Amino acid sequence: MLDLGALALVVLAPFVVLLSFHGYSYFTPEVLLIVASGLAAAAVIALLIGFTGRFIRVAALAGLIVLFMDMHVEAPAWSSLAIALTFLGAFAALAGILWLLREHATKILCVVFITLIVLTLLRANPSSHQIVTERISTAGSGNAEPPLLIHLLLDEHIGVAGLPSEIPGTRALRSELIEFYTARGFRLFGRAYSQYANTHNSLANLLNFTAREVSRPYVEHGTQAEWNLEQAAYFQMLQEHGYRLHVYQSTFMDFCHADGVQPQQCTTYPAKSLGMIQGLAVPSAQKAGAIVNAIVTQSNVLRVVNTIYERKIRAALLRAGVQLPAWLWQGPLFAPLRVPDVFQQLNADIVRHPRGHAFFAHLLLPHYPYLFDQRCEMRPSMSDWLINRVGATEPFVYNTAQSRAQKYERYADQTRCALTLIDALLDDLRSRGLLENATIVINGDHGSRIPVRYPTSRALATGLLTQSDLSDTFSTLYAVHAPGVASGYDEEPRSLVELLNHHVGGEPLSGPGSCRVFLLVENGGGHMTGVEPKFCAP
Ligand SMILES: [Zn+2]
Repeated sequence: MLDLGALALVVLAPFVVLLSFHGYSYFTPEVLLIVASGLAAAAVIALLIGFTGRFIRVAALAGLIVLFMDMHVEAPAWSSLAIALTFLGAFAALAGILWLLREHATKILCVVFITLIVLTLLRANPSSHQIVTERISTAGSGNAEPPLLIHLLLDEHIGVAGLPSEIPGTRALRSELIEFYTARGFRLFGRAYSQYANTHNSLANLLNFTAREVSRPYVEHGTQAEWNLEQAAYFQMLQEHGYRLHVYQSTFMDFCHADGVQPQQCTTYPAKSLGMIQGLAVPSAQKAGAIVNAIVTQSNVLRVVNTIYERKIRAALLRAGVQLPAWLWQGPLFAPLRVPDVFQQLNADIVRHPRGHAFFAHLLLPHYPYLFDQRCEMRPSMSDWLINRVGATEPFVYNTAQSRAQKYERYADQTRCALTLIDALLDDLRSRGLLENATIVINGDHGSRIPVRYPTSRALATGLLTQSDLSDTFSTLYAVHAPGVASGYDEEPRSLVELLNHHVGGEPLSGPGSCRVFLLVENGGGHMTGVEPKFCAP
């Protein structure tokens, strides 16, 4: 009986910690489903170890406890072997202690885990799924009241030239994008490109008008947000021009606390909080699956197990003609869900501050998961919320030709959802007479990242990377509406940095130069390798 209690506590403790942290209510069908399954699993284990000796009992308890600890420590950048050895070492040490404690072990465990669960409940974070607005600076900017500036950063929005023409949905999207932006007075740069495949590298360079050949300049890992931007020459320039700054950001990257940057208002929406799916009209079993997945993907040692399963076991059986299900490793990410609400708040804030204010919004749309249809209606089954890659038995492989086409169809719909939101915003501004003199920049930070192979320097060395892998990854959207900028479709290849520096910084555009993008060197201490893709060649 005491065994059953200890096992149940150890099995359910990770869920209590996770759900409290994410502000998830316990009294929901999905949580009750998890509790029932956890109790059933604990009962089965307790029954099984009742028939075996003390050794198995100690091993089962030690294994579960070490797994619990493993889920709550940040993995150092260790090899799979080092992580596996550390896990086994901790397991052996704990099993030794439990063995020495004999019958006292389960009592002590019960007390420790009950204390832990109570402390966790007391420290719950009920607002982790909400949008939070912080007013930071109320300082005025003097007499300068420059015209309205709006900068929408649509994460993972590919450029027109990068949209594959062989897939019907993306072929249609090409002309829809050109028509949408040119009809609304924008100049659309179809062959614009980012020089980086990652958000943090792309945005850190863009907001400092640089193209550094090293990974992670101007950013640090954070605790509140995954990345903190430390310097932002762009925001400082806007402040010097007399703008008061409004920032809309996700918990993925913090822009509000860079050196010398004092936004008037900083709005943060959640990217990964499970609390975001709590009230959604999707089946409870799918929500329970998402919660279990969030637990599993916290574990360092299960990640090693995932790699062994995908790359060794499933790969070997596939060669022998046996197909096992893929196990795609992906932590929780629901950021697109909040983007329509952020648009509404942005719209209201702009209307309140039509002059002298600059609005910068980092929006995780059309970023995966592709959970919206073209009218921003949520897809009712979470199994349809695809992400940009499949589980793969080979390194660098993100998609098959077939999965790539399927993902691009969903991606095209989610991109149309973004157009729907932008359209409503522009319509409102036009009806209030705010559009004509406004400067509006809308750009991506990298491509759709739905390649067949993901470009890194090691993938490049295999010789298997294709031009479409590069355009899937580096082609990105850039559209600008500004006084003095003629509307139309522009096919000059230009980097994001060059375009932003021209339209907002006032720097002249150079003649056609080379198009150079940077691939990350694995375990290379932040080094990058330059390549010149064809889609943006001069
Ligand atoms: Zn991104």
